[in-house]
Amino acid sequence: MSSPPSDWREFDRRHLWHPYTSMTDPLPVFPVVGAKGVRLQLEDGRELIDGMASWWSAIHGYNHPQLNRALEAQIAKMSHVMFGGLTHPTAVGLGQRLIELTPPPLQHVFLCDSGSVAVEVALKMAIQFWYSSGRPQKNRLLTIRNGYHGDTFGAMSVCDPDTGMHALWSNLLMPQFFAPAPQCRFGQEWEPQDIVALQALVEKHHQELAAVILEPIVQGAGGMRFYHPQYLKEVRALCDAYELLLIADEIATGFGRSGQLFACEHAAIAPDILCLGKALTGGTMTLAATLATTRIAEGLSRGEPGVFMHGPTFMGNPLACAIATASIDLLLASDWQQQVRRIETGLKRGLAPCRDLPQVAEVRVLGAIGVVEMKAPVNMRRIQPEFVAAGVWVRPFGKLVYVMPPYVMNNEDLATLTAAICRVVANHKGTQLI
Ligand SMILES: *Cc1c(COP(=O)(O)O)cnc(C)c1O
Repeated sequence: MSSPPSDWREFDRRHLWHPYTSMTDPLPVFPVVGAKGVRLQLEDGRELIDGMASWWSAIHGYNHPQLNRALEAQIAKMSHVMFGGLTHPTAVGLGQRLIELTPPPLQHVFLCDSGSVAVEVALKMAIQFWYSSGRPQKNRLLTIRNGYHGDTFGAMSVCDPDTGMHALWSNLLMPQFFAPAPQCRFGQEWEPQDIVALQALVEKHHQELAAVILEPIVQGAGGMRFYHPQYLKEVRALCDAYELLLIADEIATGFGRSGQLFACEHAAIAPDILCLGKALTGGTMTLAATLATTRIAEGLSRGEPGVFMHGPTFMGNPLACAIATASIDLLLASDWQQQVRRIETGLKRGLAPCRDLPQVAEVRVLGAIGVVEMKAPVNMRRIQPEFVAAGVWVRPFGKLVYVMPPYVMNNEDLATLTAAICRVVANHKGTQLI
């Protein structure tokens, strides 16, 4: 079959799952036939300014010639070879860059398929490290509420119990420890009280805890919250004092999104294990990485089993590594810090009018992330087509209308995007319409 059937949209509705959707009563999806720069091209010819960067990932916009060239050059050599017993310069080049860019203690790279897998790998590293160190009872995890770490079982066990729908899985998930979400906001005054609850959990349970896992500074899909860097500093100090590893999940925040290359830099701390994904390939292919310190790498290679117990089929995929390398080079060659600051300014200015709307609880912006938190969950069936009619691609969830545009979005498109959000949100009165 060379081209899809003329009723391909109907086929999609009947047969293909989309993220978090029903197979019997799915919300409508919009057919896209192309994407270039910051615009998605719909089948009917309309163009949408993309506020989502395909979930944090397309930081350079779509169809970037430099990324396309990197992919073509790699295809001509090889698309894939197994990483067991073989290696290739493309993976090494990427590994080198990741080690150079991330905090100095992180020296060892595990390349994997997706963000959720990177989190699984991180959890397994932490648990295997303590096992190999003769302390197998240190095998549980501590995290903070409102977190999101992915959809696989290990990752789900550390997602927010409410937004992660834990009740459905309660018999299957590893029971973990949850501290309240940080309350001190980024940019506000630090309140030492904020760390007390997490500290109490560490003091009580450190003998059985392998690690603390959290999203540094920006909690993404679990609530789009920005918290105080001092909180992260305190967590680092507690981990050191009580022999816990710190896992930083920077799958959403990595590669400049929060204004620093990595969000940990806001607190000037280094984690023991770091997860990267999403923007790693500039939004072109699936790839993720888990980085570890030499202490972890050497520790988990000691004793039995002596090897790290993970190895995906597509580990170190050359196409993905080639394009990730090109994306990092493109980012570093650009004035990304200034771009992100410019977008931050544009989002602050453009979303400010939403503050005065009675249906809006709060507007917050950090780096190239803008959030309009509503007082009630939005009616997706209604609001999604309104954004499309306004010429923008914005995909809310729950009470959160949020955007994280490609860094290359110019001021005019950004102003169009934020004006459309203000208009659609103003027109959206909330619960009574659901
Ligand atoms: C998206 C995300 C993940 C999961 O990544 P996938 O590639 O969707 O599996 C994990 N952690 C954070 C912080 C994320 O934003």
